[in-house]
Amino acid sequence: MYFFLFMQYCKKGTDMEDFKYKIDQFADIKILRYQAPGFEELSPEQKKLIYYLSEAALSGRDILWDQNYKHNLFIRRALEGIVKHYSGNRDAEDFQKFMAYVKRVWFSNGIHHHYSTDKFKPGFSLEYFIQLINNSPCADFLKHANSKEELINKIIPLLFDPEIDAKGICQDTGKDLIVNSAHNFYEGLTQQEVEDYNNKIIDKTDSTPISYGLNSKYIKENGQVKVKTYCLNGMYSAAIEKIIYWLGKAVTVAENERQRQVIEKLIEYYKTGNLETFDEYSILWVKDLDSRIDFVNGFIEVYGDPLGKKATWEALVNFKDIEATKRAEILSANAQWFEDHSPVDERFRKKEVKGVSAKVITAAMLGGELYPATAIGINLPNADWIRKDYGSKSVTIENIAYSYNQESLTSGFNEEYAYSEDEIKMIKKHGFLAGSLHTDLHECLGHGSGQSLPGVTSDALKNYSSTLEEARADLFALYYLMDEKMVEIGLIPSLDVAKTEYTGYIRNGLITQLTRIQPGNDIEEAHMRDRQLIAGWCYEKGHADDVISLVEKEGKTYAVINDFLKLRGLFGSLLKEVQRIKSEGDYEAGKGLIEKYGVKVDKKLHEEVLSRFERLKLAPYSGFVNPKYTPVYKNGAISDIRIEYPDDYVQQMLYYSENYSFLPDYN
Ligand code: ZN
Repeated sequence: MYFFLFMQYCKKGTDMEDFKYKIDQFADIKILRYQAPGFEELSPEQKKLIYYLSEAALSGRDILWDQNYKHNLFIRRALEGIVKHYSGNRDAEDFQKFMAYVKRVWFSNGIHHHYSTDKFKPGFSLEYFIQLINNSPCADFLKHANSKEELINKIIPLLFDPEIDAKGICQDTGKDLIVNSAHNFYEGLTQQEVEDYNNKIIDKTDSTPISYGLNSKYIKENGQVKVKTYCLNGMYSAAIEKIIYWLGKAVTVAENERQRQVIEKLIEYYKTGNLETFDEYSILWVKDLDSRIDFVNGFIEVYGDPLGKKATWEALVNFKDIEATKRAEILSANAQWFEDHSPVDERFRKKEVKGVSAKVITAAMLGGELYPATAIGINLPNADWIRKDYGSKSVTIENIAYSYNQESLTSGFNEEYAYSEDEIKMIKKHGFLAGSLHTDLHECLGHGSGQSLPGVTSDALKNYSSTLEEARADLFALYYLMDEKMVEIGLIPSLDVAKTEYTGYIRNGLITQLTRIQPGNDIEEAHMRDRQLIAGWCYEKGHADDVISLVEKEGKTYAVINDFLKLRGLFGSLLKEVQRIKSEGDYEAGKGLIEKYGVKVDKKLHEEVLSRFERLKLAPYSGFVNPKYTPVYKNGAISDIRIEYPDDYVQQMLYYSENYSFLPDYN
């Protein structure tokens, strides 16, 4: 599971020297850099391990593009042909618009917006686009079509016809979610056919089930479902072969025996595509707590599949931030206390909370689904039974959060949406710690808490399960942030930290996250639905007691919390209900909550929030360019790894396409 950063952070501790965080901005996106402090202090062997794992992290890039949409690689290569070879005027306004479009496509790993999953509308004309192709003489378009005409005829409707594959992931339950999603997990199948097939193959009596369908595409052939598995000699073989190569290098510099086993097991899984091997790998991985360096590389998260079965490819290479990890360790050490005192029904509490390992990490390389837009926290593995029997690893990515924070210092965002000077002061004083602790609680304890009744799985909640799960983890975090226990165990100096987070959370859920929604649209992304659901529910339920008010001042709406303790009580009540829904698999109740509070947007408020936001000239989404690692050779062997921080987004994308593109146009 992912955890995203939506809050605006403020300053933490000392400033790193003059490091430029923001390096590009276009459409609704800004591109930042992140540093990897501590990398220089690692041993040469550890640096080598990071280098090899980073190469593996970059080698799967094409897989995600193809998963997002089967035409994506073909389209990307055509667009990059123009970027590299167009001989006309590159200063022209139209060309700038074309570049903005390409940058968005790179950012989303395809032609659908990474959040809304709406297909991008090109900001330039079809005629201009044809002119671009015709004036890019050296572009090797002919690798991708028999003639320029054929290429043009094929690509034009894909880019310009708003009716064709309009939506990456369809969430509209009134429609066939499979047929209406452009993502490339199923072909020729209806939702009903996929559900029937799943019902047939999934063994519901198995207490240690594999993650059915996680690493494959389903295609209808001669009336039958055919499974194309992502593995060596299967689908995506050419990219997987490279991943295996670099993982093999990593084995040679593993930090210890257990880590060596982890990497070897992952290689075995990539070779066979066997999901039982994947579970064995996950169990080995979750037990590796001693290594300084860690990584994720594989088909992990199912947010991209409206049915929540197929996983997109992602990678993350990281090393432990030893100082900051102490914070998470304190939470873990008290995990059972938190579980025992949770406001949920006793039947749904875990009698024994198993090894919630938590650490704070420094990201060294982002790949696949985590690049360029990334989560700031991750909790894995996802298989419920492994989490229950072996625990899970939970990480928060401090250097990424810090980068967001640094960038936001001067944005004016807080000044616009915070109600008072006092609130802004609180954000400056406590914001970074408050946000970090929310993430820690959400990841280390929230997702791992609670238990379902026997036989109930997250399948029962279908398309609502992600949102409800995120809400559950958020509510757990919010409820406990304002517990005296937090002061007692030394995590916060005073409850002011919690108040800062409450204020920021409610402000975000009711108001500021609307800046991410296009006029007229509903909220679709799971984490955003979760936030509006929580804020909206508490606003309504606390109305009689005036817990939260929406105050209007000079035509601007502000969310103001009048009673923090009562708000905490409301968080607890909603946590209790959401846990019950999950534990009992109460689909109707889950659907009711989300549809009532999490989806619809107040049109008038939305308009106001957007117009205020527009004046700030900020971009609501951020992503990152990666550091670059270069081996230093001595006597023919690698003696060290040099780290650099590139500051050109376009160059990094072109470099990746040039050096890490292993798949054909169609897979
Ligand atoms: Zn989460």
